[in-house]
Formats: sequence, structure tokens, C-alpha cells
Amino acid sequence: MTGPEINDVTFDFTGKTALVTGATKGIGRDIALAFARTGANVCVTGRNSAELDSLRNEIEAMGVECYAYCADLSDRKECAQMAQSFVASNGGIDILVNNAGISFPETISNLDIVHWDTTLNVNVRAAAIISKIVAPSMVSRGGGCIVNISSNAGTAGIEEHAAYCASKFGLHGLSKVMALEFGPQNIRVNTVAPTVVLTPMGTQVWGDPKKADPVKRQIPLGRFAYPVEVTYPVLFLASDAAAMIHGAVLLIDGGTDARLY
Ligand code: NAP
Repeated sequence: MTGPEINDVTFDFTGKTALVTGATKGIGRDIALAFARTGANVCVTGRNSAELDSLRNEIEAMGVECYAYCADLSDRKECAQMAQSFVASNGGIDILVNNAGISFPETISNLDIVHWDTTLNVNVRAAAIISKIVAPSMVSRGGGCIVNISSNAGTAGIEEHAAYCASKFGLHGLSKVMALEFGPQNIRVNTVAPTVVLTPMGTQVWGDPKKADPVKRQIPLGRFAYPVEVTYPVLFLASDAAAMIHGAVLLIDGGTDARLY
């Protein structure tokens, strides 16, 4: 979880409101703090209310507004209520980062169908529900931007990750269709697809060097990513610097995709 931090304000989101799902830890927390540091008001959501409170305090100390809402995104009603509440309390959202994600590594032979449902519901269905609710508020503000946090697992298979891969391939498909539908309304939609990132999820699944080292050898840069190395590309995609980038999948994979054999 260590690594470089964002020190210089290279982006300015003053006056914007960003909604980040899965903001209590890992990549989502880093992204929420980065939007606050760069001037945005931030809406944050997750299941852990203590972590959400602590994040809200940290963000408010930066002098911007923070709205926090505890919700389980595997539940479609809670998911919709959270999105509706944020839209109502802020008069709309400018930037949506669909980041919340979950993984239950297991073989297909041992597949637990409850895990399957939870993974698909959190990783892809929630993004569709939230985007559907938030998009009209973006239109009323003249446009907006959605960034979906996918994974390398949305571009190729990973053993013991059937539900996770299915969810991330699904998220890529959802992103493409959102780009077609929302583009004419001046809502840009893009996806980032990182390799393993050193977060609680990343270290839980890939923390054992016996498992991690062979994977790192397949990455030309020879290492896993830090959360900030996902955050910077997200800020870029949300900024006017990316005004013509739409419907894209940006790999953050240390060059993994460059290798054929
Ligand atoms: P993480 O450290 O485990 O954090 C996951 C976040 O998602 C937490 O804030 C968690 O909130 C939230 N979340 C999980 N299940 C939820 C649910 N049912 N309802 C509401 N919120 C829920 O994971 P991360 O590594 O930062 O991952 C963030 C995103 O990046 C995910 O979409 C993941 O698939 C993707 N990604 C991660 C890696 C990696 O190696 N870490 C690589 C590629 C892509 P609570 O704990 O408060 O519920």
C-alpha cells in the first residue's frame, strides 16, 4: 500500500462533484482523496461505516464538501437509493467512478453460486444501476464523465477467477454501450483495466510471493501497481485533457498486453 503519492495539483476539479463507489479502501479511497485534493466535492460510498466516517473527516479537512452513504451494492434497492440520495443532495453529479469491486477466487468446479451472484451484482450490475440514475443529472449540468474501474481480468482469463472475469468482461461491454448512448449527451465514458494493484484486495489474492512472483515475471515492468498509478489515469480521463477520449479501455498493466508468448 506504499508508493508515490499525489503531491502536485496537476488537475483542477473545483466546482465539480465526483461520486466514487468502493471509496472506503484501496483504489477507491485513493481516487476519492485525489478528487478532494484537486478541488472537487466528493460523494463516497461503501459498506464499512467507520471507514466511511474517517474518510469523510479526512476529505472535509481539505475544505471541500463530502457526502457519505453506507450501502451494500450487491443489493439493487440499496444501490439505487444511494445513487438517488447523492443526486438529490447535490443537485447532480459531474463525475462518476464505478470502482466498487469484489473477488472470490475459486475454481469453476468449486463455484459457489452465491459468490457468483454477488460478484456480478457488485462489479457490473451496480455500475449499470448507478449510471442510469446519475446520467440524467449529468445531462442537466451540461455533460459529465464516467470512469469504470475494470481489470486485466476483463481482457483475458485468470485461473480461479471465473465470476470476476465474467464481471469485468461484462463491465467492458456495458461501458461500450454507455459510450454509444451517453456520448451524444456529452457524457464521456471510459474504462481503466489495471493489473494487480497493491490494495487490500490485491494483497489478499496475490500477497503470497509463491503466487505473485511468476505473475510479476509476465509483466514487462516487473512489478504490481500502486493505487496512485490507477488514480492518475482516472483524473486524466475525468479531465478536459481527455475531452476526445470516449469508449476507451486504458490498460494499466505494466506492458502485460504487449506480450504474445
Ligand atoms: P478493495 O481494496 O477490496 O476495496 C474494494 C472497495 O469496494 C471497498 O471500498 C469496499 O467497501 C467496496 N465494496 C466491495 N463490495 C461491496 C459491496 N457489496 N457494496 C458496497 N461496496 C463494496 O479493492 P481494490 O483493490 O481497491 O479494488 C477496487 C476496484 O479495482 C475493483 O473494481 C477491483 O475489481 C479493481 N481492480 C483491483 C485490482 C487489484 O489487484 N487490487 C486489479 C484490477 C482491478 P467496503 O469494504 O466498505 O464494503
